[in-house]
Amino acid sequence: MLTVRPDFYDKFHCLASRCRHSCCVGWEIDVDDETLAYYNTLEGPVGDALRESIALAPAPHFRLTAEERCPFLRPDGLCRLILTLGEDSLCDICALHPRFYNELPDRLEMGLGLCCEEAARLLTEGAGPLRLLIDDDGAGATPPSPLLRRREEIFARLADTARPLTARMEGALALCGEALPPFEHREAARFLLTLERMEESWTALLDTLAAAPGEELEPRLSEERYMRLAAYLVYRHVTGAGSEREEARLLRFCFFAVRLVCALEPYSPDALRLFSAEIEYSDENVEKLCAWLATHSSRDG
Ligand code: SF4
Repeated sequence: MLTVRPDFYDKFHCLASRCRHSCCVGWEIDVDDETLAYYNTLEGPVGDALRESIALAPAPHFRLTAEERCPFLRPDGLCRLILTLGEDSLCDICALHPRFYNELPDRLEMGLGLCCEEAARLLTEGAGPLRLLIDDDGAGATPPSPLLRRREEIFARLADTARPLTARMEGALALCGEALPPFEHREAARFLLTLERMEESWTALLDTLAAAPGEELEPRLSEERYMRLAAYLVYRHVTGAGSEREEARLLRFCFFAVRLVCALEPYSPDALRLFSAEIEYSDENVEKLCAWLATHSSRDG
């Protein structure tokens, strides 16, 4: 069995009180059954506070405050549960976030979600093409699937810095018999404004882009950070595709995301985190965006 992680994974440490966009604010936090049972055994003020702060329906979750903060997030940005009960007391979501896992027949692939500002920083400030670090437990590996072999080819094409990134993304999509859909930033922003949004700053950023003058993206798009972002989105999203058609659909999503973030970053250094939180972490928004992109597709349109 192989265990795979991106080159910046081991450098990650939660910023805790230094985080400007804490994941303990604005997100519903579900409590898994095992942790709930543990919390129900606790006595004293913390046990009472836990029981008062957890709603059981439709699934157990922390009741957020009027400011949408986790009730155990202190004003100084530290977690009262960690401070009083230790990190082992956290429910699964809190203990794992922002990590994600993709289980494949021969391997477990893991990474860090870009809705976390520290994960986004570590990815985009890394040097050179994205590298995957692989541990082998020696239990015997099965040959990689055709999709994983094609992913290697996609990574190789994205890392070919002799060509502009747009041409590299075109080359990657060509492996699935697809052309890269056109990208027009105002049209993209207007479409994204039709989707569900959470943060006002995301709406404001899209409004800005919808009114922004035309710009040639390519000079900035070929910066190293976007090459790394493209490869990382492929690593996270395309790996689970069940067919070549699905692979092409997800590749279009990834490469749209790269160009969108590149178009947004002159207006906000927070664009990547916002994109991830608002789109990447919403299955519904990803589906709607993929359907919209399919209308520009050479295969699905
Ligand atoms: S968003 Fe990332 S850095 Fe910030 S509190 Fe959450 S895990 Fe920590």
